[in-house]
Amino acid sequence: MKRTLVIATRNKGKLLEFSELFSGMEITVCGLDDFGPIPHVIEDGETFEDNAVIKARFTARILGFPALADDSGIMVKSLGGMPGVHSARYAGESATDEENNLKLLHALKNRKDREAAFICVLAIAVPRGPALIYEGRCEGLVLDSQLGSNGFGYDPLFYYPPLGKTFAQMTTQEKNHVSHRGRAMAELRGEAEKIIKWLDLRMAEEPS
Ligand code: IMP
Repeated sequence: MKRTLVIATRNKGKLLEFSELFSGMEITVCGLDDFGPIPHVIEDGETFEDNAVIKARFTARILGFPALADDSGIMVKSLGGMPGVHSARYAGESATDEENNLKLLHALKNRKDREAAFICVLAIAVPRGPALIYEGRCEGLVLDSQLGSNGFGYDPLFYYPPLGKTFAQMTTQEKNHVSHRGRAMAELRGEAEKIIKWLDLRMAEEPS
């Protein structure tokens, strides 16, 4: 039996990663661009899990297929977990990565405790009922200046002690191996067969 799983993203790179994850299984993976326009979802949750579930469930309900969504960001210990779920918009609604990085540097000026963690939560939801959650975490330090030019977001500030470099100094492969997103994906990959069984059961319970 062929099933469909919608990845709640318009990002081609993310879609490719997830398609590879489910390749060889009896599942057709598609992205939001495979459908007509759908309303924008408001991500107003207080946690990464809230937002990932909001996105996955909203997509599943609108399209009638199971959906997978992710949410991620950086939590800085001495800032009480900020920017957290506000990571993308830390310096304002349409802030650039550079503006967000400068704001973080400013917030941490003269602070000794530089501990931080990147978090990624993946949620898989059906139109009704519970969702499956997978989480990945990566601990590191926020430097006092930017280093490296790869990656995106807070990568040039995030130093990962076990490899002695920032995320922006790593190749994509190196980063995927240790990053919050890579770890959440590895957890999901380990359960892919179970997930497909779960989807079959949940979708069989959906009213037609
Ligand atoms: P989203 O989960 O795609 O909405 O990402 C939230 C925000 O968190 C991004 O815009 C980045 O600012 C930050 N972020 C999430 N993952 C990473 C990462 O791997 N490197 C750097 N910044 C990240």
